[in-house]
Amino acid sequence: MPEGDTIFRTARALGRALVGRPITGFRSNYPLITRFHDDTPLTGQQVDRVESRGKWVLIYFSGGGILVTHMLMSGSWHIYRIGEPWQQPGRNMSIVLENSVCQAVGFRVPLAQMHTVQTLARDRRIPQPAGDVLNPDFDAEATSKRMLACAHEEIGDVLLHQEVLAGVGNVFKSEVCFVTGINPFCKVADLSREQVSTLIATSKKLVASNVLEDSGDTIVTYRGQHRRTTHQSSPGESLWVYSRNGDPCRRCGDRIRRRIQGPDARVTFWCEQCQPMPDGRDIDG
Ligand SMILES: [Zn+2]
Repeated sequence: MPEGDTIFRTARALGRALVGRPITGFRSNYPLITRFHDDTPLTGQQVDRVESRGKWVLIYFSGGGILVTHMLMSGSWHIYRIGEPWQQPGRNMSIVLENSVCQAVGFRVPLAQMHTVQTLARDRRIPQPAGDVLNPDFDAEATSKRMLACAHEEIGDVLLHQEVLAGVGNVFKSEVCFVTGINPFCKVADLSREQVSTLIATSKKLVASNVLEDSGDTIVTYRGQHRRTTHQSSPGESLWVYSRNGDPCRRCGDRIRRRIQGPDARVTFWCEQCQPMPDGRDIDG
């Protein structure tokens, strides 16, 4: 059985055993994890979800902590009913999570850390979720299917749906639409499959070209004026439309427009000439 599949099944089993029940007991032989638990007790918290990413298993606690374990060759998670004897000697125990029904025991776990959402995003050793445009295993075909399933939503909103594709953000949303000539208020149903593929490829390209890897385990995203989608090196000319309300379009000279879009009221910029609505419709049509 492929290793990734085993870890995926481990995460599923841990999820079934742990999610939704308060943790009643916690032990670890990792000093840093024990210290985290001393400061922010995991007992009393619930497990919100369990996820696998490559060879990593991530356990999300309701208090915001994320227990990240790498399984390598030696490590394994076992699930026991309370009182059931362990199948490995106690000295191999690395971590125990207990609730009213069962115990999840990590044996000989070679690498374990507590993370927050922020430190997790910065840890370059842990793969990003599959839908993240920066993930080396990013699956454009699967992303395209998820996007097409949002047929009746506006593409400018869909580009921000983390469960469809992650990593684009509000600035790149407007830039990606401009570069592909697609009106951000257009419904996904109005786009061809080819346009959807182009949007995804462009998202990946623009986001990747704006991320700088430096010390190996951090990501530095260029901020503000340093974001670059136009190939111009001068910071003032680095973006096509974002934050350029009323300025002339860099392609056609028409005035760039700004409008609040979607249920989360995010600001969107576009050029009406370069990004017409299909069939000349109004953006509300
Ligand atoms: Zn234009």
